[in-house]
Amino acid sequence: MSLAGMPCRELHAKLRSGELSSREAVQAALEAIGQRDGTVQAFVDVWENEALLRAEEIDRRRAAGQPVGALAGLPVAVKDNLCTYGRRTSCASRMLENFRPPYDAHVIERLQAADAVIVGKTNLDEFAMGSSSEHSAFQVTRNPWNPEHSPGGSSGGSAAAVAAEMVPAAVGSDTGGSIRQPASFCGVVGLKPTYGRVSRYGLVAFASSLDQIGPLANDVYGCAMLLEVLAGHDPRDATCLNVPVPEYVRSVDEAPERLRVGVVEEFMGEGVDDEVRSAVDRVVGALRDLGAVVESVSLPHARYAVATYYIVAPSEASSNLARYDGIHYGYRAEAFENLEDLYARTRGEAFGSEVKRRIMLGTYALSAGYYDAYYLKALKVRRLIRQDYDRAFERVDVLVGPVAPTPAFRLGEMLEDPLTMYLADVFTIGANLAGLPGISVPAAMSSQGLPIGVQLIGPPLSEERLLRAARLWERHCPRTVLGRPALCQ
Ligand code: GLN
Repeated sequence: MSLAGMPCRELHAKLRSGELSSREAVQAALEAIGQRDGTVQAFVDVWENEALLRAEEIDRRRAAGQPVGALAGLPVAVKDNLCTYGRRTSCASRMLENFRPPYDAHVIERLQAADAVIVGKTNLDEFAMGSSSEHSAFQVTRNPWNPEHSPGGSSGGSAAAVAAEMVPAAVGSDTGGSIRQPASFCGVVGLKPTYGRVSRYGLVAFASSLDQIGPLANDVYGCAMLLEVLAGHDPRDATCLNVPVPEYVRSVDEAPERLRVGVVEEFMGEGVDDEVRSAVDRVVGALRDLGAVVESVSLPHARYAVATYYIVAPSEASSNLARYDGIHYGYRAEAFENLEDLYARTRGEAFGSEVKRRIMLGTYALSAGYYDAYYLKALKVRRLIRQDYDRAFERVDVLVGPVAPTPAFRLGEMLEDPLTMYLADVFTIGANLAGLPGISVPAAMSSQGLPIGVQLIGPPLSEERLLRAARLWERHCPRTVLGRPALCQ
């Protein structure tokens, strides 16, 4: 196994003890990228020189007896909708193809302060709108388990980079499932934190009331390790919570006591693949055997979640994306007749079809005359959805259910059918609408040899418990049971 595919837990221990140098770890990641990214296409940019220089600098500091950060030498990849000072941040859009931000996102600062080494930026659906990574203006990322299949999206590049053992951990963003669904499709662990747990400063906005940044890693430990660094207060994001960050790493191996698990009735019915359902049953059964109390829970408004999300998210997107006018940022049409024409041509030429679809949906829902009927109504239903979860968490500590109705679909399969793609977000968007944390853990392999993840959702700020419960399952079903992508063998 390449060093970059070593479980975060082990790699971290070797880096900390000095058994492994930062340079060796980063070199291994760069080599794996060189070998496999031609096929996988997870990266839109690889920071080869800078990564090696940083790694050497960390090794030098350590050799001189100076302090190093908690993630010293850990190679990580970051989604290309996170601003990186002076380095291309494209959001996989022609609009920002040459955009070099004048500042770093909060999470980039945190990673660097912890001495993690960023090895590159990963592909996504344009502006994070999508579930397949096919809506990138630049490239289609492939699923390392089967290159004919999608890695999921929109953080498909980050998930595929971890699954293909190019990096042990990566950072993504999740507005309606974009960390958890690709984690499920690629057989890695992915966590969407509570809304406000991680600062969104420097995350290119898609839907600001739903967006949240979080980790993907090859084990639960890796997610704990990254979250501990990413989380915490930042005054530059007014929605960022000012509450202490627990020591996720220290507690991750402690089995949660008297865990009460709720199985969401509405998530186990029609439309869910049998193999996905049995993966959920497996996890629930294992947690029960390990001492958890299991009961059935109902989220009566869950069936309105997709409709609600596809009003709220596009509405916010249409407003957030108004800033791309050809004047302030990025792309500008070359020929135009007047200001209006400049706006129209710039946006017409530089946005892809999915982004345009969202802008039109959102503009419509927000327009005078429709605002009350669509946007305001959606906000009310959003509240009802949140109340369902509040009620469920009076009885149970975590909800267990599927991440997506199926394992990874084939590339191209969904492209002509956006509605089916939207409907497949049914199990993930509830957590975003309600602001709750959710984690996807690998749980099974499909008969076609594709990974299937299972989701745990908890009340606000219950990341510590989610990680511990996920770890309990992981111990029971170590990643090696799932095997490794042929590509990596
Ligand atoms: N698939 C969802 C969408 O297309 C979620 C995307 C995301 O979480 N960024 O909007």
